[in-house]
Amino acid sequence: MIVGIPKEIMHGENRVSAIPETVKKMVDGGAKVLFEKGAGVGSHYMDEAYAEAGAILIDDVEEIFARAEVILKVKEPLFNEAKNKHELDMMQAGQYLISFIHPASPSNHPMVKQMAEKGIIGLTLDGIPRISRAQAMDALSSMSACAGYKGMIMGINDISKFVPFVTSAVGRLKPATVLVIGAGVAGLRALATAKGLGAMVYATDIRPEANKNAESLGATIVETGVPSEIAVSPDGKHANQLPEKWLEVEREKLRDIVSKSDIIFCSALIQGKVAPVLITEEMVKSMQPGSCIVDISIDQGGNCEITTPGEVEVKHGVTIQGIKNIPGMLSTSSTIMFSKNIYNLLVYLTKDGKINLDLSDEITSSILVTKDGVIVHEGTLEAMGLK
Ligand code: NAD
Repeated sequence: MIVGIPKEIMHGENRVSAIPETVKKMVDGGAKVLFEKGAGVGSHYMDEAYAEAGAILIDDVEEIFARAEVILKVKEPLFNEAKNKHELDMMQAGQYLISFIHPASPSNHPMVKQMAEKGIIGLTLDGIPRISRAQAMDALSSMSACAGYKGMIMGINDISKFVPFVTSAVGRLKPATVLVIGAGVAGLRALATAKGLGAMVYATDIRPEANKNAESLGATIVETGVPSEIAVSPDGKHANQLPEKWLEVEREKLRDIVSKSDIIFCSALIQGKVAPVLITEEMVKSMQPGSCIVDISIDQGGNCEITTPGEVEVKHGVTIQGIKNIPGMLSTSSTIMFSKNIYNLLVYLTKDGKINLDLSDEITSSILVTKDGVIVHEGTLEAMGLK
């Protein structure tokens, strides 16, 4: 198998889809790895290390797209300005692409259609189901853990206070108060980060299970007032999208702690849906000057009504972070995690040295986006209004 690793071209993207360790494993497993020179620099992995691991370093990315049978990437195919060509236009029929394709996102629909028309077999990492046997391939969870940690550090950096309780010759300084909304993968990591630095941490989630996890990490739980039969799916695993009436109940319960918090970390989400608005502009106005909100659910619209996508802004004296590519700001760690997830997926899909798609398998069928010239991904077809 010939595997191609191009340099990521999205603006500000520092991650890469392979580290020397995973390259070595691929080469030891019999693959030929074509690696674009300099592709690892953003995450501090140098060409020499890749060459030592057995990669063939290539200057021209077009050669990688032409020769590889499988392309491993972090982000969806984009227009390559240096080449004046779209990455898809450098690919050909029958070639595999494994990446975060985000195929359901409307802005990617034209690209996904073109991918199908070109006969590219697209497999998306954001489709990996959250089931235990897929955990080692679950790049979305890995990236959420990175966003939870780094997002909390960004919030801590934004406030002008100590986080821990500090005793000094001039008296005691109170620890910072942190509220985590949505105690999923990202929220729990954010919570643990703040707690580790000595903050007074509060957390809230509409799933009792998530609140239990948050409590075990030392958070005080703020009850949302939403009954679990309304909040949780019948199998008890997933949160439901709440009707406005219940969101209002939840906002009311949060009002007091919001006004007292130095940092609010927002990560409440139901996958594939618009994020619930849990902090209104009026609630932001009630916050103390100098406090901050880190709204990582911004890709899905944000949990705070006035977060600006992709920006950091001060509104009503509160810094509001709407930064989107937080894992890219922790590029070494996120690259290590991502590379291992994608390597594990490649191994999972490979039989006798070739990718062999078993469409009766839950993991494979959940990640397959395009095959034999057509779009097959349910979520994408639904989002396109074709199903
Ligand atoms: P997750 O599904 O593990 O957690 C989301 C949590 O929100 C769940 O526990 C759910 O029960 C809870 N929730 C849903 N509705 C709620 C409500 N009304 N009130 C309180 N809690 C509610 O998701 P995750 O992996 O932790 O990701 C969280 C968000 O972070 C997602 O929007 C994801 O796209 C985003 N994210 C952003 C970045 C970035 O760079 N900005 C990076 C990674 C992830």
